[in-house]
Amino acid sequence: MLSKLTGGRVYDPAQKFDGEIRDIFIQDGVIVQNPGANVRFDTIYDVTGKVVMAGAIDIHSHIAGGNVNTARLLLPEQHRNHMARRLNQPFATAKWSTTDTGYRYARMGYTTVVEPAMLPVNALDVHLQMADIPIIDTGALAILGNDDLLLRLLRDKASQAQINDYVGWTLHATRALGLKVINAGGANAFKSNVRQFDLDDIVPDYGVSSRQILQTLQRATYELGVPHPVHVHCNNLGVPGNVETVLATMEAAQGLPMHLAHVQFYAYGKEGTRGFSSAAAQLMEGFRRFPNISMDVGQVLFGQTVTISGDVIAQYSRHQDASPNKWVMWDAECEGSGGVVPYRYRQTSFVNGLQWAIGLEMFLLAEDPSRVFFTTDHPNGAPFTRYPQLFRLLMDYQYRLECLESIHPDVIAMTLLKHLKKEFSLYEIALMTRSAAASLMGLRDRGHLMPGGIADIAVYTPNDNKENMFNRAAMVFKNGHLVVREGDIVARLSGKAQTILPDYDASIRRTVKLHFDHFYSLSLHNFMVDDVDFNQPDQQRFRSHDCHN
Ligand SMILES: [Zn+2]
Repeated sequence: MLSKLTGGRVYDPAQKFDGEIRDIFIQDGVIVQNPGANVRFDTIYDVTGKVVMAGAIDIHSHIAGGNVNTARLLLPEQHRNHMARRLNQPFATAKWSTTDTGYRYARMGYTTVVEPAMLPVNALDVHLQMADIPIIDTGALAILGNDDLLLRLLRDKASQAQINDYVGWTLHATRALGLKVINAGGANAFKSNVRQFDLDDIVPDYGVSSRQILQTLQRATYELGVPHPVHVHCNNLGVPGNVETVLATMEAAQGLPMHLAHVQFYAYGKEGTRGFSSAAAQLMEGFRRFPNISMDVGQVLFGQTVTISGDVIAQYSRHQDASPNKWVMWDAECEGSGGVVPYRYRQTSFVNGLQWAIGLEMFLLAEDPSRVFFTTDHPNGAPFTRYPQLFRLLMDYQYRLECLESIHPDVIAMTLLKHLKKEFSLYEIALMTRSAAASLMGLRDRGHLMPGGIADIAVYTPNDNKENMFNRAAMVFKNGHLVVREGDIVARLSGKAQTILPDYDASIRRTVKLHFDHFYSLSLHNFMVDDVDFNQPDQQRFRSHDCHN
């Protein structure tokens, strides 16, 4: 099958294309060089006047796993509401079915999404749910850092090499794309009634600090050659004054690569009469000094959502704000914990209004957009379906001012937003959601439109209202197949889970098996994702990417 897209204005930062008119050629699902004048195309798509980009990549969105399913179970009434509404209502969140998740991402031109919180004991559930999400490719980050085995190894002064093997084994066994650390040690300390946990606090019974856990796992990821650096959810999420925590964490990275997740929730000062202020400028000033750090924002947008996180300290601290008033906290197999708390972000709330402004300030103050990524930490800051509105907010200063007028008046006095007149270009949007996102995750086969890349392509109809433009792509191709036309799904395909398989010494499996036999309610055999039949040949379900070594 040979086809071409002709006449489009191409935005592809990997090739420095900033709206140049270029034809794109596709053969058997892959982008190829111009095959010359004398070939016959099976299909020619005339995209004259349209904007053409690679398929977008969401690097941090909770689309599968135990928390997501628990949120679905906790909020059945939202599911009913949703069923009664049109598909384009960005009402509720994690309770969407797997089908909705795939369709809604595809309609906006997204073709790859990374689930950032796969508890290893829950990996099989995550992969089964991801296998049920149509069209998009997926990937998941395995969580370590509060698990009993790692903390025991650290307490027993295991070598870095042993830790590396345990991390390597975990990444293999869970078929992960990278490693996530959530409030390192905090969820474990919570079980000893600790309710606040900082970078240098010690996990009771184990005698190891959060910093030590974090640095050990960061080094393991680096030494195993995992392309995506350790993905960190810092301590003190949501706590006023926590900008100090995130700056200390950047320092703790010691010059090695580290990714900080949903940093808006850490850009908080404690100035003002309410003891809550924006520290976005301070945070971005610090970020400038650490070129080894990347981050995603975790933008808040107003409306109903549900917060889900493995950070049980943070989730428990906000359970009284649950709206509607019901919540869940859990712990699984001494491996990790978490909580589900429904929440409504209100324009009339000072705190919520300031959170909204802080996220936007961070984007607008970023000097190097290739290290800053678009997320709402779906569903924690807002559902992912709100991305088009976020693009509009960043691309349109006047629209930003109009929105600012409608939020709590005290916020207007406390934010820099009026003075930040920057408007993002289509090129910068393509950089942050495509080429830089692919590089960050080590996915070399996507995020660009160069020959050899998979033909994941999004085509948009230009519109001054960027929200309308990005809400419904004119066309989306997945592996060369047309899957969306004028915002409607026209084909249902199955995507693949993206993985990495770093080298490690397999003898660590003995240690892990002993631990499972002693303490787990399931056997190691039940745990391994590899052993499961996905109703799809293995090479069709998983796509493995290269490690550095
Ligand atoms: Zn998250």
